[in-house]
Amino acid sequence: MPSWLNEIASVLDRAESPVRVFFRDDDAGWANDKLFNLMDKFAKAEMPIDLAVIPQSLECNLADELLARWQQGRHLLGLHQHGYSHTNHELSGRKCEFGASRTKTQQMADIANGQIVLKAYLAEAFDPFFTPPWNRCTQDTVDCLEALEFKLLSRDVTATKYHTTKLDQVPVHIDWSKIIKSSPDPLTELGNTVASRLSQNETTGIMFHHADMIDEHLNTLAEMLALLSGHQNVQGLLLRDTQG
Ligand SMILES: [Zn+2]
Repeated sequence: MPSWLNEIASVLDRAESPVRVFFRDDDAGWANDKLFNLMDKFAKAEMPIDLAVIPQSLECNLADELLARWQQGRHLLGLHQHGYSHTNHELSGRKCEFGASRTKTQQMADIANGQIVLKAYLAEAFDPFFTPPWNRCTQDTVDCLEALEFKLLSRDVTATKYHTTKLDQVPVHIDWSKIIKSSPDPLTELGNTVASRLSQNETTGIMFHHADMIDEHLNTLAEMLALLSGHQNVQGLLLRDTQG
């Protein structure tokens, strides 16, 4: 086992009950070859992964491939909605597709149109879950999602919690791609960050952006997946398994 995984392995060995972890990859619809490479790593390790799919970027060939993979192992693959077109509508400040400058009517139209596309392409493989691009949205977004019968909202753990009685809010905690791209010592930081979070013994969400991942990043990920999938104290989850 590579030494950068030592701390994670130590946490797992000491855990008194299986640690719960899910993985969310954003921007399905972009960089399909890289997406499939990432999915191959998860499939090989038999670990589950949820894909946030951009409706306007989903075309027939990609939908066919996702459905084929879902039919082969639906317990290991989740498919849900990632905004509509992944467009930044804000003129200043942080990027948002569902930000303050979008009216509730505009947001409703975008989410509903995206939902129609994903239901048409993915049918029963579509989970009624929503990840907003850049992990940002507003209370209006939440109200729209409730009206459209979505069941789960996933963002970043630092995002403001909104009022909802109908949506589970299941955040990610670790931005894998950001750490591996920007840290001066990414393997050490990944090992420390993942181990620290897992040691809290709460459900842990790890986010990827496959479009940013080069082969080296994928190999690093495969090393961690091999550890997690072979360890008795790990319970890999899909977003849908976090409900209830
Ligand atoms: Zn995105």
